Amino acid sequence: MASILQCMQCGQQYPIMQVIYNCETCGGLLDVQHDLTALRSTVSQELFDQRLGTLDAPYNSGVWRFKELIYPDVEDRHIASRPEGNTNLYHTPRLAEWAGLHTLYLKHEGENPTGSFKDRGMTTGVTQARALGMKRAACASTGNTSASLAAYTAWTDMEGIVFFQDQQIAMGKLAQAIAYGATAVQINADFDRNLELVREVSLSLGIYVLNSVNPFRLEGQKTIMFEMLQQLRWQVPDWIVCPGGNLGNSSAFGKGLFELCQLGLIDRMPRLAIIQAEGANPLYRSYQNNLGGYEPVHADTVATAIKIGNPVNYAKAVRALQWTNGVVEQVSDQEIMDAKALIDRQGIGCEPASACSLAGLRKLIEKGIIRHDETVVGILTGHLLKDPDATIHYHNNQIAGIDAQYPNKLHHAGASVEELTRILDTPVKA
Ligand SMILES: *Cc1c(COP(=O)(O)O)cnc(C)c1O
Ligand SMILES: [Zn+2]
Repeated sequence: MASILQCMQCGQQYPIMQVIYNCETCGGLLDVQHDLTALRSTVSQELFDQRLGTLDAPYNSGVWRFKELIYPDVEDRHIASRPEGNTNLYHTPRLAEWAGLHTLYLKHEGENPTGSFKDRGMTTGVTQARALGMKRAACASTGNTSASLAAYTAWTDMEGIVFFQDQQIAMGKLAQAIAYGATAVQINADFDRNLELVREVSLSLGIYVLNSVNPFRLEGQKTIMFEMLQQLRWQVPDWIVCPGGNLGNSSAFGKGLFELCQLGLIDRMPRLAIIQAEGANPLYRSYQNNLGGYEPVHADTVATAIKIGNPVNYAKAVRALQWTNGVVEQVSDQEIMDAKALIDRQGIGCEPASACSLAGLRKLIEKGIIRHDETVVGILTGHLLKDPDATIHYHNNQIAGIDAQYPNKLHHAGASVEELTRILDTPVKA
């Protein structure tokens, strides 16, 4: 049941233990390809359902519960797990009403150990690093990948190396990387340049690259779909809506859903809606052009996690759109921050990039692309506390170019019952 690495473009195959990130023949992206024919008789909904609630590693992880579909042959002693996944799927009728539909679920990937979905890809990536005998792993990151890499390398006694841009970095993420003990470098360059740098330096120094160009990352991220389907008792929703930055998630969702269909675990594909920020929208532009004429952009958005102008997984995301009959939408920073405010005040909360899901959903319903009677699952990618500055500035109406529609103004009072009574006299919710 051996897995192999396979070029998505020319089909060239490489051994699973080769350290390689792009096809040597054509430069294409690689997939971890499993033997689906052999797996057909091994995996079932029942197998995965039986493991729910187990206390035993590695199946207590929401990633490794699906080990056969992720990395069947890896030895358990190499698995680096916190454990991750097992995130909640919230039924959110008030947000559904705001967006204009009946049934909306939000799967909150901010509930992972380091506060973003990146942990699902990092557990598989660091596991492969260990299987390869690597002692150092590196990434360039807008923040969350670094936080996650720092945690998983620390947990397994490896050296983590993270490259940040030196501007507009969310405090929660930087704090995590430093606290977990990674070798952290701030560089005077944007994410896209830092990714080039990390690949060059890692190649010459023999460091394992754990950006999402690494196909093992995407194997872990597939489990967002697996777990969501399990939580819906394997009833396939009509739509999955997620933010698109480096397009790792979109790519992983496409691959995971395609494999489930091939294996007969689901009988149809949900449709994928990828939402980009207007200021970082190369996939959206290409989609407008029938997925032709791809060009990188200079990225600028308040949603720093998706501030990426040249997404490395573009080709895989296009494949995912084709497999799922998917669509791409864009949203403004204003729409992102207002949607975030609404998600936050449900008591759930998320970081700015995550709110693309709700903002984009509302737009797609307005346009009649998603119907109000269809069932939608939105992905919240990161935790509210990742970027406290964005939240506070929004509620103070201090973000340039954004006119906060749902601010919750902080009150100030002297230490007197009279002043407090004046503020609290009228209940906010009548
Ligand atoms: C990394 C990240 C994204 C972007 O995901 P991609 O898979 O690169 O498209 C979105 N939101 C958050 C919170 C992230 O950390
Ligand atoms: Zn190739």
